[in-house]
Amino acid sequence: MNAMERQDWEARVGKLDLTAGVFVNGEFEPATSGATYPDFSPTTGGTITEIPAGDQDDVDRAVDAARVSFERGDWSKAAPADRKEVLLRLADLMAETSDDLALLETLDVGKPISDAIGVDVPGAIGVFRWYAEAIDKIYDEIAPTGPGDLALVTREPLGVIGAVVPWNFPLDMAAWKLAPALAAGNSVVLKPAEQSPLSALRLADLARRAGLPDGVLNVVPGFGPTAGQALGRHPDVDAVSFTGSTEVGKLFLCYAGESNMKQVWLECGGKSPNIVFDDTPDLERTADMAAFGIFFNQGEVCSANSRLLVHRAIKDELIELLKERASASAPGHPLDPSTTLGALVDPHHTDRVMAYIEETRSSARLVTGGERLTISSECFVTPTIFDEVPPDHRIVREEVFGPVLVVIPFDSEEEAVTIANDTDYGLAASVWTRDLSRALRVSGALQAGTVSVNTVDALSPATPFGGFRQSGFGRDLSLHAFDKYTGLKTTWIKY
Ligand code: NAD
Repeated sequence: MNAMERQDWEARVGKLDLTAGVFVNGEFEPATSGATYPDFSPTTGGTITEIPAGDQDDVDRAVDAARVSFERGDWSKAAPADRKEVLLRLADLMAETSDDLALLETLDVGKPISDAIGVDVPGAIGVFRWYAEAIDKIYDEIAPTGPGDLALVTREPLGVIGAVVPWNFPLDMAAWKLAPALAAGNSVVLKPAEQSPLSALRLADLARRAGLPDGVLNVVPGFGPTAGQALGRHPDVDAVSFTGSTEVGKLFLCYAGESNMKQVWLECGGKSPNIVFDDTPDLERTADMAAFGIFFNQGEVCSANSRLLVHRAIKDELIELLKERASASAPGHPLDPSTTLGALVDPHHTDRVMAYIEETRSSARLVTGGERLTISSECFVTPTIFDEVPPDHRIVREEVFGPVLVVIPFDSEEEAVTIANDTDYGLAASVWTRDLSRALRVSGALQAGTVSVNTVDALSPATPFGGFRQSGFGRDLSLHAFDKYTGLKTTWIKY
């Protein structure tokens, strides 16, 4: 339990190391153009520091450094057990500096400090440890060919990986990409979201201190259409692993097709259904978790349970319970440890979330919320629930990425599945029922990468995470993530 109070965290802000640069070949440098941009904090309402705005030239430098390091072989050809040691050291350094990492994350994106310290940072550390521990326990294969032939099937690192990540879980999303890519022996160029570069830059510094050879990890902060696009189009990048919106994910497919046909792996948006049958085991707990499923991280979660599909017989009762949860999670100052709902990432995104709310007011019933608050910035939105929303309304179909829930009633299992699958996305789903047969039947019928039964957002480094349909393809987490960062090589020996 972290005993720091808000004033302790605030006092710590002034002591933070805010080193910012384009991290290439183990050094922080200015952007080649000299350009910088102010890094806005929704937690303070002000600028945290100036960040170099990396662009094409910086991406070129970073990719060159990554390529040289890969060819050098001191990482790519190191024994897996040696790579493991470095990654475990990195995890230890992250643990030693976890308060600072959490604070950087809260300053950058406005998430509650208690979430940053209790969820984000330990989550990222756990992922580095998991892949470090995995890499020296994976065996290659010998194919069942005939006598006189020995066919070895080995996993080879791909080379230079471009990792492009969003702002909602900056450290965790970076860890989900970097840990398996580095463990497998690749060199990486990471482009954090422009809203949230600080934890990625700190991670680069810690990796250097952990003994990662220069050039193996490079970080280019900057904007999507410049730095992001340059990475997506770079002819010497072997694969791009992207997490972000579906719209930008599609661009990366174009960039690859128009450049060197690099592999592209996409983890994109969602509009996940949370289906509550009238035999849900415990309605109070269902309400707790339904609220968590949409209000956690201010609803800025790709797998947020943003559509609550509830059996008509229990709809009103569940809505009442959810109203209680919503009023208990009023937004608060992100550095106050008792806050459970922090700030949205910036005023622009807050405008976008409010636009969805405003245009829904006249066509649906607002159960609770719908207000924008100014606390330490103008980026706070109260937990919002809409009922009686027309099924084709934008708020039912599009990803809002805010604390906004729509409730949709159903009368039968078949109808629930039809409504749940009536979306462009397929990232996650939840099902609440006592009936195991129904749970398995419905789970089998849902188009979703993860189906949580009698819980929401079930997640572990040991299970693959990713989507179907326009939520993307390829999987983060688990041993399956190595599929994205390695290629299979057959070496056939005649004897
Ligand atoms: P975004 O797509 O706007 O940005 C993601 C990254 O792409 C950022 O680094 C950004 O700078 C870069 N980018 C933006 N425009 C670009 C362009 N034209 N060319 C190249 N790169 C570009 O997403 P966001 O707003 O940062 O994050 C929110 C989105 O991320 C949501 O849609 C959410 O669902 C998704 N997300 C998905 C997962 C998942 O695992 N499926 C996890 C977290 C977030």
